[in-house]
Amino acid sequence: MSLSDRRALVTGGAGFIGSHLAERLLADGSDVLLVDDLSNGDRDRIPDGAEFLEADLTEPTALDGHLDDVDVVFHLAASKHVDTDRPHGQFDDNTRMTRNILEAMADADVTEIAYTSTSTVYGEAPRPTPEDYAPLEPISAYGASKLADEGLLSARAHSHDLTVWNFRFANVVGPRLRGAVIPDFIEKLRDDPEHLTILGDGRQEKSYLHVEDCLDAMFHVVDHANAAMNTYNLGTRTTTSVDRIATIVAEELGVDPDREYTGGERGWTGDVPKMRLSIEKLSALGWEPSLSSDEAVRRSTREIIEEFQ
Ligand code: NAD
Repeated sequence: MSLSDRRALVTGGAGFIGSHLAERLLADGSDVLLVDDLSNGDRDRIPDGAEFLEADLTEPTALDGHLDDVDVVFHLAASKHVDTDRPHGQFDDNTRMTRNILEAMADADVTEIAYTSTSTVYGEAPRPTPEDYAPLEPISAYGASKLADEGLLSARAHSHDLTVWNFRFANVVGPRLRGAVIPDFIEKLRDDPEHLTILGDGRQEKSYLHVEDCLDAMFHVVDHANAAMNTYNLGTRTTTSVDRIATIVAEELGVDPDREYTGGERGWTGDVPKMRLSIEKLSALGWEPSLSSDEAVRRSTREIIEEFQ
């Protein structure tokens, strides 16, 4: 399926990945409608040329009248906090959004959806983790909501006329990323270049994917996979530890801080300390990341430092 010259609806379009996706779709000649409630999005990220609807997608009527001429939905809107103080509320919100979108799509005869799932659906699984790993035992309400969403999408894909591209992302990094380890370290070191507090023992080790690679991979899968339910891991073959991220950020800022660790193997409740996804299925479809995990971290660090100037 080619995305050029089509009308796409992007939920969560004022967020980090959604705003980059919107720019890419516009550059490819698509019409783009962004929907976001701005709870974690920013109006300034909405690119010129995109239409914008401010709406809360947990409301069943949020998309009434807005899907009639849409060809494909990219569903990114979600509450993505892993350590939340309202796990059941978060689960309800995320799954309600997906249910509402599926109902609105069915009413408007829209038959294609790309969904942004996550490595956290695997819980603490052996690495590298392939798409057919089981049992799926997420350790956070966020991961549970994404797994439930996958179930809703699968049920509809296998029983109605619906094509689903289901992307299980590693950690995505790049310009506009906020509320994550790289911008957190940059902000802390700008405030105090002599000292850095690191959550956990610093040995948490995860795979980081640059947002440009992430979008390339999404578009490649949409173009080349046409089953009813197409589930793909998106990541890199390598990992970066939190200590290594601290080193990269310090190098890029030209500082040499003392490090203090809060201790324990995970940074917060629900954190999966080690994550690396198998990307053999994606590789067999003909796509490879252009940057390693370390390279993605370093490039993003430079990009985010630039934004903070
Ligand atoms: P983000 O928080 O920047 O973007 C999500 C957007 O959804 C925000 O702009 C927010 O305002 C919006 N939103 C939340 N609740 C909403 C509601 N009720 N109605 C309308 N809009 C609502 O997050 P992101 O990093 O860009 O992530 C995009 C998607 O990718 C999410 O679904 C996330 O779970 C998934 N994902 C991201 C990563 C990552 O590393 N960034 C990793 C795995 C999966």
